[in-house]
Amino acid sequence: MSSHPHSYYAATANSAPAFDVLDGDTTVDVCVIGGGIAGCSTALHLAEKGFRVVLLESQRIGWGASGRSGGQAIVGYACGYGKLIDAVGLDDARRMWQISIDGLDLIKERVARHGIDCDLHWGQMHTAVKPRQREELLVEQRDLQQHFDYPVEFMERDAVQQILATERYCAGLYDVRSGHLHPLNYTLGLAAAAQAAGARICEQSPALQVDHSDPAVVVTARGSIKARFVALCCNAYVEGLEPALRNRIMPVGTYIVATETLGEARITELMRRNAAVSDVNFVLDYFRRSADHRLIFGGRVSYSGLDPFDTARATRKRMLNVFPQLADVRIDYSWGGYVEITMSRAPDFGRMAPNIYYAQGFSGHGMALAGIAGQMIAAAISGQAERFDLFTKLRHRDFPGGPLLRMPSLVLAMLWYRMRDWL
Ligand SMILES: Cc1cc2nc3c(=O)[nH]c(=O)nc-3n(C[C@H](O)[C@H](O)[C@H](O)COP(=O)(O)OP(=O)(O)OC[C@H]3O[C@@H](n4cnc5c(N)ncnc54)[C@H](O)[C@@H]3O)c2cc1C
Repeated sequence: MSSHPHSYYAATANSAPAFDVLDGDTTVDVCVIGGGIAGCSTALHLAEKGFRVVLLESQRIGWGASGRSGGQAIVGYACGYGKLIDAVGLDDARRMWQISIDGLDLIKERVARHGIDCDLHWGQMHTAVKPRQREELLVEQRDLQQHFDYPVEFMERDAVQQILATERYCAGLYDVRSGHLHPLNYTLGLAAAAQAAGARICEQSPALQVDHSDPAVVVTARGSIKARFVALCCNAYVEGLEPALRNRIMPVGTYIVATETLGEARITELMRRNAAVSDVNFVLDYFRRSADHRLIFGGRVSYSGLDPFDTARATRKRMLNVFPQLADVRIDYSWGGYVEITMSRAPDFGRMAPNIYYAQGFSGHGMALAGIAGQMIAAAISGQAERFDLFTKLRHRDFPGGPLLRMPSLVLAMLWYRMRDWL
């Protein structure tokens, strides 16, 4: 049985059953492919509506990005509200904004309803490293209020320093509705809730082929599933299963370290509020406190795949750039995973065929969006597609360069953005 990659989350995972491998042929209403937050949420909502559901996960539940994430559940979209308004107009952008708020409320509701022990806390701050970014945060605060009636608190340098023991940031935007959680335990909790609602969950059962027929047929190594509907929730790990989906997202490697436990007094001195923080650089730093008083710090991206470079050392260096006072602190865990980005950084939802749905490309906002995407797929399958179809209005392009050249082209493009972060 393969296991979750070594990480702080795997080491502190709640006990969860190992689910069976799919063996034999079966017929259901819906086959969900992918056992991250999107897939588990889809399965849970469908099972609650009375559909017969099988979820296939190629490794373990939460093995992908959902079990490795920085865990920051943030309102809005990675592409920014401006691009949404340009793409679909203000009214639909407002509806989409509301959906991202609903994504946060859904986490709150699911955690309470299913008693999911995942260390959920509210409060999140975006921080500015440079004066130019301070101005951008001011504009954002004004626009969020004006366009979406969404209040966030603007903080000057001194106010930020009341919360964070660092001189790195010159301003911040504080949002009380966004928050953070233990992403693996949240995902495991959703899977347990889906199973309790009647969904069948299979691990170690990669879908090898999806026939776009009606009913669809999904083939695994030891069995097959005939299903009226399929939900593809494989995201950055989709690989060859659906090349058309893979071509529209780029798996970007990002890395996290967890320090040794610092004790409550020292972590509170560092971060006075138990809120998540991320800066607004393109190659951003993001961090938060763990339940057992560690600093969980992520940063650095690799557009050329998860490289063998000493990621713990490089990520620790970024951490010390923010908190030099942690120079004496040991790193206990270090891990990485793929974030799935689209060209526009807007999420990519749609149908491969009338009965084959997908949701991918949350571009670093999946903690809040993946769960609500699952709810929207379930609603669409049961005949209420308005919210899901809002997102199909967003046009997505393949990454340029085809399978061979898209990675080098992106590396070059990203170099430009990195240089911009330095200015
Ligand atoms: C290190 C890191 C830090 C991040 N930090 C944040 C953050 O702070 N905030 C935020 O909002 N987002 C963050 N993200 C992104 C976020 O975690 C993802 O957007 C989100 O988890 C996506 O969920 P998902 O269910 O769509 O995909 P995943 O969780 O990746 O799940 C997809 C699953 O599909 C399975 N699969 C793939 N192919 C098949 C197949 N053929 N058959 C069966 N199963 C298959 C995979 O094994 C995988 O388990 C981070 C990601 C990483 C890697």
